[in-house]
Amino acid sequence: MVCAFCGCDCDDISVTVEGDRITQARNACSLGKAWFLSHGKPPDLPAARIDGRPASLEQGIETAAHCLTQARYPFIYGLSSTSCEAQRKSVALAEVLGGCVDCCTSVCHGPSGIATQGVGEPTCTLGEVKNRADLVIYWGSNPGESHPRHMARYAVTAKGMFVPEGRKGRTVVLVDVRRTPTARAADIFLQIRPGKDFEALWALQALVKGQKLDDAGVEGTGLKLEQLTDLAGRMMRCKFGVLFLGQGLTQTRGKHFNTSAAFLLVRSLHRHTKFALMPMRGHGNVAGIDNVLSWQTGYPFGVNFSLGYPRFNPGEFTVVDALSRGEADAALIVASDPVSSLPGKAARRLAEIPTISLDTHESETTRIARVAFTTCTAGIHVEGTVYRMDNIPIRLRKVLPSPYPSDEEVLDRLLTRSRELKAC
Ligand code: SF4
Repeated sequence: MVCAFCGCDCDDISVTVEGDRITQARNACSLGKAWFLSHGKPPDLPAARIDGRPASLEQGIETAAHCLTQARYPFIYGLSSTSCEAQRKSVALAEVLGGCVDCCTSVCHGPSGIATQGVGEPTCTLGEVKNRADLVIYWGSNPGESHPRHMARYAVTAKGMFVPEGRKGRTVVLVDVRRTPTARAADIFLQIRPGKDFEALWALQALVKGQKLDDAGVEGTGLKLEQLTDLAGRMMRCKFGVLFLGQGLTQTRGKHFNTSAAFLLVRSLHRHTKFALMPMRGHGNVAGIDNVLSWQTGYPFGVNFSLGYPRFNPGEFTVVDALSRGEADAALIVASDPVSSLPGKAARRLAEIPTISLDTHESETTRIARVAFTTCTAGIHVEGTVYRMDNIPIRLRKVLPSPYPSDEEVLDRLLTRSRELKAC
C-alpha cells in the first residue's frame, strides 16, 4: 500500500483490514498510521448538502453546476490531496468555465515553481539520493516532524548502492533559523538569521565560483565566513550532493529570489561535481497537480482560462490574491480546507460567495459551503495516481469500500453538467 499523506508517498506500507476498518499500518510513521487508521467507519454525513441541509447527489450537482456556470470569475482551488485523475477533471472544468485553477502550491512551493520556469530545476529522484548522495543539505525544512520517514527511507540512514554504509557514508547539514528536531540527525547545524537566505545562498554561489569574500560580504546572514566557506568546500568536494528546500526558504522574505538563488547555486556546482535539488513537497499529491497543470497548460499553478487559453500570473491568478481582492465570485474547493488555512480576508470571501466543497470529512470550509459533497479517499477507497515529491508517479490501491463517490466522479458529473449549461 501507499501512504498518500505526505510528499514521501511511502509505498512499502502493509495494512491489516478487519471488517470495515484498517487496524494496522506496518512501516508507516505516526502521521501515516493516523491517516490509515482514521479511515474505516464512513463519516456520518450525506453525500451532498445544500446550505447545510442533506440533499441527493443529483441535486448537489445541479445546484453546484448552476453556481459555477453563472459566475463571472469561478475559482477552483485545493487539489493537493486527491488523485491525478480528479485533478485532470478540475483543469478541464476550469477551461469550460473560463475560470481560474490554482492549488496549494501557490501558498507553499510556488516560488520553487517560479524558479523552475525562470532558471530550470536541476533535480533528481529520491532513488538517486538513496543510492548516491554523500552530502545531504536540508535548508528551511524540518523533515523530522513534517516528513518523518524521509531521512530513514531515502536520504540519511538508508543504505544505497554507492553509499553502502548508510548514515556513516553521508554528511548531513541543516540550515535553519532555529534548532528543530531535525538538527539531532545532522552533522552540521547552521543557524541562519531569519530572512537572510538569499544573501547566504548568493555568498555560497560566489564562493563556489571562486570569488573572494570578506566578513563584510556575509555580514547579517548570522553565519561566519568560515562556516560558509566550509559548506561551499564540502559541496564542491562531495561525489553527489542534494539540497532539499523547505518552506523556510520559499515562504520567507525573498520567496522566488531565494529559490532561484538555490537553483543557480546548484547549477554552479555542476562545474565541480554532481549536485541536485528537490523541494520538500508537503501534501501527498501536491506534486501531482503541478504535473497535471504543467502538462495540460504549461504552467504549474495559478492558471486562468478567461480568454479561452491558459495564462499564468502568480499574484493575479493565485488564490489569496483573487479572493482577497474580491474578484472570485464562486469557488470550487477540492480536498482542501482554505477557510482554516488562508489569510482572514481570503477566507472571509469564501463565505460571501457561493462555495462548493469536495472533502472526505467535515471542515471549516465544508461548513460555510453552499454545496458540500462528501467524497471517498484516494488510496483507501478508490484507486488513482499520485506524484511523489521527486515527480515519480505512484499508483494508489483501494482497500475499503465506501458509500461515497470519488472526487473524480463528482468532478466528472460537474463537468458534464457545466458543459450542458454553458452550451445553453
Ligand atoms: S513519511 Fe509521509 S508518506 Fe511516509 S508514512 Fe509518514 S506520512 Fe506517510
